[in-house]
Amino acid sequence: MTKDRGTPPGRSSTDGRAREHGAPASNFLRAVIAEDKRTGKYGGQVTTRFPPEPNGYLHYGHAKSIILNFGLAAENGGRCHLRFDDTNPIKEDVEYEDSIAAAVRWLGFDWASHRYHASDYYDQLYAFAEWFIAQGLAYVDSQTAEEMRASRGTLTQAGTPSPYRERPIAENLDLFRRMRAGEFPDGAHILRLKIDMGSPNINMRDPGIYRIRHASHHRTGDKWCIYPLYDYTHCISDALEHITHSICTLEFQDHQPLYDWVLEKLADGGQLARPLPQQYEFARLNLTYVVLSKRRLIGLVADGHVDGWDDPRMPTLVGARRRGFTPEGFRIFAERIGVSKADSWIDMSVLEDCMREDLNARAPRRIAVLDPVRLVIDNYPEGATEECIAPNHPQQPELGRRPLPFSRELWIEREDFAEIPPKGYFRLSPGTEVRLRYAYIVKCTGVDRDAAGNVTMVHCTYDPKTRSGTAGADVRKVKGNIHWLSAAHAVPAEVRLYDRLFAVPFPGLRNPWGTRGDGAPGDAATSLGHATVVAGDDEEIDAPEPVERNYVDDLNRESKRVITAFVEASLGGAPAEARFQFERHGYFVADQKDHAPGRPVFNRTVTLRDSWAKA
Ligand code: ATP
Ligand code: MG
Repeated sequence: MTKDRGTPPGRSSTDGRAREHGAPASNFLRAVIAEDKRTGKYGGQVTTRFPPEPNGYLHYGHAKSIILNFGLAAENGGRCHLRFDDTNPIKEDVEYEDSIAAAVRWLGFDWASHRYHASDYYDQLYAFAEWFIAQGLAYVDSQTAEEMRASRGTLTQAGTPSPYRERPIAENLDLFRRMRAGEFPDGAHILRLKIDMGSPNINMRDPGIYRIRHASHHRTGDKWCIYPLYDYTHCISDALEHITHSICTLEFQDHQPLYDWVLEKLADGGQLARPLPQQYEFARLNLTYVVLSKRRLIGLVADGHVDGWDDPRMPTLVGARRRGFTPEGFRIFAERIGVSKADSWIDMSVLEDCMREDLNARAPRRIAVLDPVRLVIDNYPEGATEECIAPNHPQQPELGRRPLPFSRELWIEREDFAEIPPKGYFRLSPGTEVRLRYAYIVKCTGVDRDAAGNVTMVHCTYDPKTRSGTAGADVRKVKGNIHWLSAAHAVPAEVRLYDRLFAVPFPGLRNPWGTRGDGAPGDAATSLGHATVVAGDDEEIDAPEPVERNYVDDLNRESKRVITAFVEASLGGAPAEARFQFERHGYFVADQKDHAPGRPVFNRTVTLRDSWAKA
């Protein structure tokens, strides 16, 4: 795997600048597809697929893959299949399938009728396995798991053939049928392809393709007690669906020879029609300040570090939705980071900026006072109310304007008043003037305090000639401009101030490339995906995660703060998931689950500016 040490976080090695001028930037996948269309390799067809394993919730990294697969199909008039890669009966569940389908739809994509399951192909996969046996290209191995592991060889040493490798075809067929009939316990036998135990590529050393698993499958029930393995299943599923471009992440690069071997043999034998699908690999998304490995995400939920899978701090798509991130923001992000063949890190600020860009264009503006202190205008008539007019969007007059009730007592932000103003402070302090946005200029005349000396009320006088939008409004210039809400009209709201989940860019790691000198990525967020089961291992073989310290210790302790704020009364009736800019604060969303009429709950999506940027 290549490591792009020269690419600093935040800059993808693919140039995304073309996008700024309207046209999508080219990338190697767009180039491949354009060439295939030119040569007519697939008769001009482009069919891709997104193949999640239904064993967890989708994360931001999957969004990159979804947008890539569905996006490439859409821009070429093709189609993208949603295929559940459900070959492991132990870990998979319909709950995950529903959530995955909902996430893809939320991102704005539609698979139409092309929703498939690897398990749809079990009969066909089984028939092909018998065909491989009949061709002398597969055999039943009866070594123990340890024996198979020992004979697998290493990266530098060839493997040694199993004593069962030369079993006669008839015996293999008989054993395989009896495996299927349930005559043997788990692990007693495994069906292996007969390729090359001396191959420098471990994936080609007689990979296992069928194992015994006495387990119910969430879709096929108890029909099967043998299950096909990933490498065998995936390429055949692609071929059966007439996928043209099978796009996956870099860890599958070393599996490509096996992918091609299986399909070529079947095509040569007349079992599959050409042209065959072609696999392409791109660099997975690595993002700072989060973890994107399923195992670690499960850990965060199971150990209670977050409030479930859809906690707005979680880098899951259900979490993103509750956070107020937008599908359009993800698409801007995917286009900006591009697709490359080299692993690199993207800084979280890039994703946040994409969300800001989208929200800035669309989110209506509202006022919220997050840390309220009372301001009283002593020369304003008691009991009087007037309507000030505020635009819903400064650049988009078509979004209209709304009345903001103004009265004698207001809420303002505590930090908009300073008893002793620091240098360059243009907001309220004794004797100074500010404009109350959309209303009047006021002058601070004093404060009230409680017994402990805290300011409980700021006193002001207003100048009736300075109302915004009237002729005299600009006569006097003031530097400060603060927001406010009429105390009699504003409503309280629960506001959850979310911030980044981790306090450091590379949780659990000092160096994103790790300390291992073997060329393997040290990043624990980069999983090895589906390793080939060569030696009878029943589970996927996972790379040991390099641990420099516990990633849990890197959690940002201030990633969630819950406050009671005051908001414009109309926000009490906003629908769940409505997004707003709270002026001067950031973008907020009415919580998908907890927000209700009369009980407003808002989540902070992102602040207006990057508060994490190093000064
Ligand atoms: P994880 O490594 O988090 O367990 P996975 O690869 O096992 O994820 P799958 O459900 O198998 O999860 O992934 C479905 C698709 O999404 C695959 O094509 C996979 O390559 C892709 N994918 C997974 N993680 C990323 C990522 N970080 N960036 C881009 N694509 C990803
Ligand atoms: Mg996987």
